[in-house]
Amino acid sequence: MSVKKEYCISCGACAKGCPNGAITVTRTAVNCTPTKSETWIDAINALKN
Ligand code: SF4
Repeated sequence: MSVKKEYCISCGACAKGCPNGAITVTRTAVNCTPTKSETWIDAINALKN
């Protein structure tokens, strides 16, 4: 498997979906556009933790 880094958003779905546990995703940053939505701000903050 190969990943095009420019498209990967580090969601971790591939790691959760792999039946052999062969994939590890380590999120080092969250890139997003600024938002005033408290729901999105909460979701982004949850990703950072
Ligand atoms: S972390 Fe998410 S976006 Fe990145 S390769 Fe896995 S499923 Fe795709």
